Amino acid sequence: MRLTTRVHDRDSAGMVYVYPVVSRRAGGVSVGVNLNPNNACNWRCAYCQVPGLVHGSGPRIDLAQLESELDRMLTALTEGDYMERHVPPEARRLNDVAFSGNGEPTTSPHFASAVRSVVERLGAHGLLGEIDLVLITNGSSIHARRVQDGLRAMAAHRGVAWFKFDRADQAGQLRWNGNRPDLTRTAENLERCCELIPTWIQTLMAAWDGQEPGQAECDAYLDWLATHAAGREGLGGVLLYGLARPSHQPEAPRLSALPAAWLEAFAERIRALGLAVRVSP
Ligand code: SF4
Repeated sequence: MRLTTRVHDRDSAGMVYVYPVVSRRAGGVSVGVNLNPNNACNWRCAYCQVPGLVHGSGPRIDLAQLESELDRMLTALTEGDYMERHVPPEARRLNDVAFSGNGEPTTSPHFASAVRSVVERLGAHGLLGEIDLVLITNGSSIHARRVQDGLRAMAAHRGVAWFKFDRADQAGQLRWNGNRPDLTRTAENLERCCELIPTWIQTLMAAWDGQEPGQAECDAYLDWLATHAAGREGLGGVLLYGLARPSHQPEAPRLSALPAAWLEAFAERIRALGLAVRVSP
């Protein structure tokens, strides 16, 4: 299979915990570490690309198998011909290892142990400090000590966290994330995350039934950023995403991508708060 920014098949390498993707934001290969092979997440986002998503947490992980799979993948990428066979020429560089996958990684009881395993294997391949370590998270479990231990271990080795924050109004949260996270807890978790590891907020904006996000929805989001994100130490800015790949949830037919011009105009409103923004239409 040829990997592209639109093909993010977690089974592409035939492994349980490790999968390669071509990352559109990085312009290179990202090695994904999937701590949720049971497709379980504590949220249910309308745009989620996980097929068969169920509510729950990550299961027990076979760390020895994870390490073995990561070894094989890193060897194939850095010494074998995997890049030539599967990756388009413009993306033949290893950019990062990312805790992502089929659910929220920080719900895994083994999150911190998995971070330590990945750090150890990167060291064995001479890659520690050479590539990024990324956590893609909905931020809901940052208050847990076991998660903070993992963040500290990541931060020591070029770690960065992408903290999901899509909407600040209750109707928008229910629609887009399938729940209503406590915004006070969210603000505390963002603050803690920024203290522990360089952090970017990640936000997805898309049309629902062909309608652009409404003014009240956008204003609530921007007000929240102004209060809790602008000027925060440790926060790099906002990764603003459009809908690039199809949802695997029942809401999929209702979702569509916004025009690039809409995303750019919204990015300007975020920049006006003093925050850096990277747009991925
Ligand atoms: S937080 Fe991530 S994995 Fe969980 S439902 Fe949302 S998009 Fe899917």
